[in-house]
Amino acid sequence: MLSKSECIIFGSQSYGEADLLVHFFSKQDGIQYGIAKSAKKSKRRFVNCLCTFHVSELEYDIKNLSELCFIRSGRLKEYFSGIYSDYKKMVLASHFLDIVKAFSPPSLVDQKVFDLLRFSLRYLSKEVEPFKIYLYFSLNAISLGGYGIRIDRCINCNRIYRGKGKAVFIPSKGGISCLRCQKGREGHGLMLSPESINLMYYLQRQESDLIKKVDITHKAISEIRRVIQAHLRWHFGNQIKTFRYLEALPFE
Ligand SMILES: [Zn+2]
Repeated sequence: MLSKSECIIFGSQSYGEADLLVHFFSKQDGIQYGIAKSAKKSKRRFVNCLCTFHVSELEYDIKNLSELCFIRSGRLKEYFSGIYSDYKKMVLASHFLDIVKAFSPPSLVDQKVFDLLRFSLRYLSKEVEPFKIYLYFSLNAISLGGYGIRIDRCINCNRIYRGKGKAVFIPSKGGISCLRCQKGREGHGLMLSPESINLMYYLQRQESDLIKKVDITHKAISEIRRVIQAHLRWHFGNQIKTFRYLEALPFE
């Protein structure tokens, strides 16, 4: 089956003498591995279109879902120059790809995740607040992937959270608990201020035009970031390899 689709390149590596093995996320066919024949020798068919993070329109043949596809040609559509020149942005962009890889089985088509990833890479490249887009991307990707963090009610007593008062995030339950239910269990879980919980609500609404307007304090970034990481670690363990680089980044 011949396909033509916009794809986000996850990475590529040498394959034999002349070919490249390319890992990419196709808007139409999900995550794929493909061989770009003679891509190392003949640059004409693949001008700049197989670099990590680039968005390219690829033409490829899929024979069988378990086999490598054959990439016939490609055309660069969009690239994010601001990412390559900034170490922090490189780490975050690589982490975004890792999150998508972690919960997307091969060939699972998810155009919403594709659009979210493309928007987030673009924002990361252009804007000066990388952690804001990190929170936005992570919370929405997690929820589109079916692992959404429950913040609407207490995971123990089911009481609705009304936007006031602190709560505690419990990684093993994937949601927040009210302080009353946590009595006697102090020290378990991660404390969240009402500001952070309300922000998580707001950011999870997937309305990307809102993100520029919202102000996020360092305290909220730090609290929400810890929750996202604990949640992902609970589900995926060390499968997400960029954690150690992410954890070493300064917060501001
Ligand atoms: Zn409760």
